Amino acid sequence: MSTQTKSFQTEVSQLLDLVIHSLYSNKDIFLRELISNASDAIDRARFETLSNDELVEPSEGWKIKLETDKEQQLVRIIDNGIGMNQEELEKNIGTIANSGTKAFLKQLGEAEAKERPELIGQFGVGFYASFMVADKVELSTRRMGEQEAWHWSSAGDGTYEISETEKASHGTTITLHLREGDEESTDFTQEYKLRQIVKQYSDYIAFPVVMDVTRQEKDEEASVEGEDPVMKEVTSEETLNSMKAIWTRSKSDVSEEEYNQFYKGAFHEYEDPRSVIHWAAEGTTEFKGLLFLPKHAPHDLFYNEDAKGLHLYVKRVFIMDDCKELLPGYLRFVKGVVDSADLDLNVSREILQDNPLVRRIGKNVVSKVLSTLKSMQSKEAEAYEEFYAEFGRVLKEGMHTDHGNREKISKLLRYESSKTEAGKTISLQNYVDRMQPDQKEIYYLNGDSREIVENSPLLEAFKERNLEVLFFTDTIDEWVIPALDSFDEKPLKGIHRGEVNLDSEEEKQEKEEQRKAAEEEYQDLLNALQNGLGDKVKAVRLSDRLTDSASVLVADEGGIDAHMAQMMKSMGQVVPETKRTLELNPSHPVLSRLKNMHAEKADDERLGEFAELLHDQALLTEGSPLPNPAQFAQRVSKLMAEV
Ligand code: ADP
Repeated sequence: MSTQTKSFQTEVSQLLDLVIHSLYSNKDIFLRELISNASDAIDRARFETLSNDELVEPSEGWKIKLETDKEQQLVRIIDNGIGMNQEELEKNIGTIANSGTKAFLKQLGEAEAKERPELIGQFGVGFYASFMVADKVELSTRRMGEQEAWHWSSAGDGTYEISETEKASHGTTITLHLREGDEESTDFTQEYKLRQIVKQYSDYIAFPVVMDVTRQEKDEEASVEGEDPVMKEVTSEETLNSMKAIWTRSKSDVSEEEYNQFYKGAFHEYEDPRSVIHWAAEGTTEFKGLLFLPKHAPHDLFYNEDAKGLHLYVKRVFIMDDCKELLPGYLRFVKGVVDSADLDLNVSREILQDNPLVRRIGKNVVSKVLSTLKSMQSKEAEAYEEFYAEFGRVLKEGMHTDHGNREKISKLLRYESSKTEAGKTISLQNYVDRMQPDQKEIYYLNGDSREIVENSPLLEAFKERNLEVLFFTDTIDEWVIPALDSFDEKPLKGIHRGEVNLDSEEEKQEKEEQRKAAEEEYQDLLNALQNGLGDKVKAVRLSDRLTDSASVLVADEGGIDAHMAQMMKSMGQVVPETKRTLELNPSHPVLSRLKNMHAEKADDERLGEFAELLHDQALLTEGSPLPNPAQFAQRVSKLMAEV
């Protein structure tokens, strides 16, 4: 066949024009595209040798070779893959098969593409990316199992030439005539440059990407001892990629050491991961996932709410390193790789954002992480506690942000309680399982630290009745509580809010009578104390929840409690003015003392002072700051002096 000149399909011409005339910002990817095509071609060839006895693996092994010629500014990408016959060549390199690319091109006005060159990266440039760096591209190819070989060439000007040629073995060789005038840094004939691109984008390609490298070495034979060594040039073939796509291997073939090495290398970690999650999703969405749970949280984990995301690969070709679409913010501690066979190689961030396939993969990733945590919690309790101590705070964010998985996440939550040792936690399920027989609610108390909540007067009545109270001491808990609402159909009840009712019906009646009697007895005193406190409190009343302490402040059901108010303040938010109720313990000796004082002299000045003291004490025990600490100290000293 003599040389024939043919025209590209209209869309290809349009695409080439865009590629050539728009200064696409990331030219390096041309090599990724060509290596990836070569790797696919080898994949297909390997597959054919498996199914056809007449075809065998090349004696030098499957490989992709890079060659350069600095003088002539040439880069060659040579593969021993499947190759193409004439028909395939014309169909594949000359038309655009990908219908999405076609549609995108139609939509994209030329003017817009020139103004926004980054758009180019959004669709399947594939082979045509060569024209970003080359002003002429040649391709010789021979189909595996066939004798004829074909030469194709084009200057990207709307036409290409095709002719028959000779080629010793099957596969494809692509020769790029690099554009002139590029700076040193973009000289693609430089060994370091190619090495760097391969490492960055094609490291995990499963076949070796090799290059002949010439180095100066001491010529042992020619060198004489005691004199300067005689050097000689030695050329050897080096493999540029590590080929360690360990996620494509089956789990049973990968050793713990290999996982650990990969984790540390790929994610710049200094210690081994806590757990490895490696699976192949099958069915409508096929992908491979290899995720890692780190042992320790990075210092900025809590403040940096943006997910770092996972590394996304498409058929072992690196696409991007922090694909946020695959990982919600509350799982931002997870590191790993997702390798999809169904996504387009040129998928861009913009496209990923509302890609249904990516959403499905993301969903699958989340449920895999959550189910792994669930089984870790039940099977490796200690490891889970350690994990939770590091990442529990971040995981909790999911209660708010991931409605669909709220129930699953709630089962992973853990809290310290009035019955756990300091530092030990229980799950909500553990709590429910050991609730008292007639207990209907899950009790919790919030505060800044275990120490504060543990010593809170609010706990007294619960301790007395052997009721367990969860300690919510994380800032984020305030936001989790509304999302939680109930667990296993048991409502959550903050014991620092509203009224608490711990008694049985009988006890209630009995108490009611006692309370009425006590209220009558104490009413005048309560009024006097309330007058003394003015609008600092909403009311002063007798308490059911205290046994040892004299006073406590409680919020209304749904009102803003002290801890929440403090937090809002620290975040610079305006805290709505809400008053709380001061509850007093009628069985505390202080109360009877005050009652007597009031009976003797209703306008005794000290009553106002003592009201303040009871109020300030309540603030102190809940960990709140005193509005006027100096005044408090004076009052206490004065009292001491009177003893
Ligand atoms: P894509 O790789 O996204 O399909 P390309 O434009 O890069 O798009 O390539 C078009 C087609 O050309 C490929 O699908 C493949 O069939 C063929 N092709 C490209 N490079 C090679 C190669 N090195 N060996 C064999 N076939 C190739």
